[in-house]
Amino acid sequence: MATSTKNRIIQDFEKQLSSLNEERTKSIFQLLHGKPMIHGLPLEVFRKCGKNNCKCAQGQLHGPYPALSVNKDGRQKTVMVRKKDSPTVLLKSIRYKHFQQTLSRIRKINKEIDIILSDIKSASTTMYPKE
Ligand SMILES: [Zn+2]
Repeated sequence: MATSTKNRIIQDFEKQLSSLNEERTKSIFQLLHGKPMIHGLPLEVFRKCGKNNCKCAQGQLHGPYPALSVNKDGRQKTVMVRKKDSPTVLLKSIRYKHFQQTLSRIRKINKEIDIILSDIKSASTTMYPKE
């Protein structure tokens, strides 16, 4: 590979790495808020009451009722939230959801950086003696 072409490839990698690294740093610092969270994603639940003459029997369900979608032992569970707890629990679970999403993004960025670094390694490495 010609040196100029190679350098251009490295420059492209450098740009990609810089922007990924910048995004990762921002994301990491977003997670350092230290505010309390609750294990579970915010959820709204609609229900039937069971009375035959109720509007819900025709599909107009009751709700929304605040709930959490909680992952327990690999299973998704719905936990209803008491009305009096709902503002605090909702806020804490929104923080949790954001934390989870940001953490996933950081993990994805880590993988992307790993791939680019491996590509740079391959592009710059030859065997000795040459085959
Ligand atoms: Zn009903």
